[in-house]
Amino acid sequence: MNKCISYARQDISEADIEEVISVLRSEFLTQGPSVAAFERGVAAVVKSEHAIAVSSATSALHIACLALGVGTGDSVWTVPNTFVASANCALYCGASVQFVDIDPDTLNMSTSDLEERLIVARKRNRLPKVVIPVHFAGQPCDMPEIYKLSKAYGFSIIEDASHALGAYYAPNGRPITENQSEAIKIGSCVHSDITVFSFHPVKIITTGEGGCLTTNDSALANKLKLLRSHGITSDPTLFKSRPFDEIWNYQQIDIGFNYRMTDIGAALGLSQLKRLDDFLFARNEIARFYNSAFSSSRLRTQLIRFCNYSSYHLYVVRISKDTVGKTQREVYYHLYQNGVRVNVHYIPVHRQPFYEGLGFKEGDFPEAEKYHREALTLPLYPSMNSEDCAYVAELLNKVLET
Ligand SMILES: *Cc1c(COP(=O)(O)O)cnc(C)c1O
Repeated sequence: MNKCISYARQDISEADIEEVISVLRSEFLTQGPSVAAFERGVAAVVKSEHAIAVSSATSALHIACLALGVGTGDSVWTVPNTFVASANCALYCGASVQFVDIDPDTLNMSTSDLEERLIVARKRNRLPKVVIPVHFAGQPCDMPEIYKLSKAYGFSIIEDASHALGAYYAPNGRPITENQSEAIKIGSCVHSDITVFSFHPVKIITTGEGGCLTTNDSALANKLKLLRSHGITSDPTLFKSRPFDEIWNYQQIDIGFNYRMTDIGAALGLSQLKRLDDFLFARNEIARFYNSAFSSSRLRTQLIRFCNYSSYHLYVVRISKDTVGKTQREVYYHLYQNGVRVNVHYIPVHRQPFYEGLGFKEGDFPEAEKYHREALTLPLYPSMNSEDCAYVAELLNKVLET
């Protein structure tokens, strides 16, 4: 048996390749017309005023924190069930990180745990400057509720939508309908200050490495553009008051980084963006197939709330002796030996040695820890054929029956 099905893979078409080649033949290789076109494309898809393309979601999270004023002495809150970058961004700015546990059904930030922690933090005068909800696996967090809490407790919101390009939710907790005109798109920042996307090859669309920030606040957008490129501007209206009459002029008016996206990556991203609806459809079809294949087993899957449309970056299941009579480890090895490269998302960030060095320990966030001991991510990518989907589902169902 030499089947090998990975958990994720990019989908690059001939048209994608042609777009990249045409940039290689053009005048601009880095941030140029393709980056600008890609930014317009992202803003149109997610319905935001501004989109700022950068080198990765990690750099996006860093400058998002800086633009919102995060610094020494501040606290930034996120969830443990995420990639380390969602938390590291706070430490880059000299702030501290605190976590909010997850809801065991949706696997997103628990709004009740968030509220309880906010009540305690207010008493101790340790309220967060920024909260970073993560739309885990592509399912939107309860943004209306988190937004409401942000107004009551005075924090800013950065949505980590690395998994969630194309996801949306219905307003007022209503069920989603075919009529998408009233859907609230992830990235539209209706309930946040800034949203961050990743275009790493395993994500919904790719630019090689890449990320993007969206916002509706022009001042934030200008700040983010400065921070991604050394703090330098060539816009005379932003110049500091000092006589400038050089023929060649730019000013560094802030301290920033080189977090630019290349035009090569942006051309790939723009071409991929045209295929977004097909990608989302394929991902949701595969998820539907898995859902029905597991409907008669006692396997726990991620609860997708009826007000949400998930982009299904990941399809995750929970395996425990109590529910299905097998351990995560047993099932993992069985699938692996039969060519199915399942994965685990995520080792809770607070259990990473670096974070344990900051004082976090086992038991701090029990739901995220329990989920981690049970979690497996099944293969899911747009080009996965129905034969492979059926193979994975059957293999899993069989091992649970024995
Ligand atoms: C992938 C990912 C990131 C980091 O994205 P990069 O583009 O690789 O920097 C951040 N947060 C989450 C939740 C991710 O999945």
